[in-house]
Amino acid sequence: MRYRPDYYDEFVCIADKCKNTCCAQWEIDVDEVSLERFMKHPDIAEHVEDGCIVLKEDGNCPFLNEKGLCKMILKYGEDMLCDVCTDHPRYISEIGDDEFIGVGISCEAACDLILNRKEQFKLIPPLELPLVDRVFECEDSLTELLDSLSPDEASPADHAKLLKTFEILEPEWKLMLDKVIKQQVSAEARDSFIDSNLMKFKNLMGYFLLRHDNDFYLAAISSRIIAELCVANKMTMEDVARMYSAEIEYSDINCDLL
Ligand code: SF4
Repeated sequence: MRYRPDYYDEFVCIADKCKNTCCAQWEIDVDEVSLERFMKHPDIAEHVEDGCIVLKEDGNCPFLNEKGLCKMILKYGEDMLCDVCTDHPRYISEIGDDEFIGVGISCEAACDLILNRKEQFKLIPPLELPLVDRVFECEDSLTELLDSLSPDEASPADHAKLLKTFEILEPEWKLMLDKVIKQQVSAEARDSFIDSNLMKFKNLMGYFLLRHDNDFYLAAISSRIIAELCVANKMTMEDVARMYSAEIEYSDINCDLL
């Protein structure tokens, strides 16, 4: 059976209005069928090497125009895109015989859509998710549930020091981690931040649980780290969650290390 959260159908790429386009920094592996198509068009083929689109020196995709739109779509239509570009930010998690599809929060539009929901998401077709239900049942304090199901003795600085040993994509990420260490963010300040942004953290926990096979530990530590970074860097939760997803969730190595 294939399941999707109800918000999946609401996702729309905001293209030229996106401040953090996904058409930069990532390695774009071209699938074989698209590669064959690309090779028939010299203006596309000249930007492909070893099965990947070669990014420009500034890290942007060569097909991203100054208005934040894709030149390939403008010239040839969406059907020209390779699978990676067509699918992003959609993902599939396979659990047993079932598939769970969703949209990832490394995308600005998906992150806004998920974090700012006013009620618990539902799966289509319906399926019970007891851990997600427990998260959304919390009335005043989510941190009590996190502490009871996933106690964590490590300090915020310990978390940041650990993440600094992981693969780092963006230099800004390292600076954000440094601030958590330098400012000695306390666990109390972090927990207070979580509980005063209760609905957003419920949505965040729900997203992580859905995407990562109900892994409560991963959902809890990810939420704590995002809160610690928000407190230290005075950034919006949307911006920090988006960066966290790009740095950790989208790196198999980092996710396994965590
Ligand atoms: S990050 Fe999301 S909203 Fe922005 S360009 Fe990519 S898919 Fe569209």
